[in-house]
Amino acid sequence: MFAEKLKLDGKVAVVTGGGKGIGLSCVQALAEFGARVIIADISPEIAADGQRRMKEAGHDVDIRELDVTKPDDVEALAAELNESYGKVDILVANAGIARSGVAAEDTTDEHWLNVNDVNYNGVFWCNRAFARHMLKGGGGAIVNIGSMSGLISNRPQKQTYYNAAKAGVHQMTSSLAAEWADRGVRVNAVAPTYIETEMTSYRHDNAGMIDVWLRDTPMHRMGQTHEIASVVHFLASDASSLMTGATVVADGGFTCW
Ligand code: NDP
Repeated sequence: MFAEKLKLDGKVAVVTGGGKGIGLSCVQALAEFGARVIIADISPEIAADGQRRMKEAGHDVDIRELDVTKPDDVEALAAELNESYGKVDILVANAGIARSGVAAEDTTDEHWLNVNDVNYNGVFWCNRAFARHMLKGGGGAIVNIGSMSGLISNRPQKQTYYNAAKAGVHQMTSSLAAEWADRGVRVNAVAPTYIETEMTSYRHDNAGMIDVWLRDTPMHRMGQTHEIASVVHFLASDASSLMTGATVVADGGFTCW
């Protein structure tokens, strides 16, 4: 009974920004449990590379080009995938950018708008577009990738634009969950700590930064992408059938201190 709840056979899943990093691990986790997965990434090259890596791991996944900041494109993709696959059961709204390290007083309009466009607006466009079909069909599960940065203020790097956007994702998750709970669409979020991906590679260019991060983390280590993908899989599966509106923190204890 319990193992059955984790299976995703017959499900169709979309992962935005799924060509690499946390997104690609989510693709692998969902595919391993039986879902048909579509990588929707802004870069066709990164999407194709992710598809190749999944093939090597034994999974056939499909790819689409998508810029989550373009609501018309998001709507069109949701319609096309529902037409092509008959439904989309799972959305992982993962696409995000950081552009960390700029003080609030030095943040340009372009910088603020760009980070919020991808990390905040883009999450809403995707939730709205895919939920429209889920609400009409057989329901669904949405997992938004937030961040512990939506709960704390990072140090030493400054990134108010990012932290504010991620806090917005957590609140958006809760509000959408409340609107859709009685119509079969669950919406949850994951708030990761620092994960070893290209997004956090700037740590190598900033002497002492990693020492601060690890000192502030009770587990004294960064996370791996698979450790987030496991949580995403749980939230996408029937194993979390009573959960909606939650932001699950996966942070090595960072927010304990
Ligand atoms: P990566 O940079 O490794 O991967 C992000 C992917 O999203 C890339 O393929 C990127 O393409 C794509 N992408 C960027 N912009 C868009 C867009 N407008 N539309 C569609 N796809 C886009 O990042 P991570 O895997 O590290 O991060 C994934 C998510 O996890 C993000 O939301 C991030 O904020 C969040 N997160 C990450 C943490 C970390 O420490 N790494 C910690 C907490 C949260 P391209 O490379 O071409 O830009």
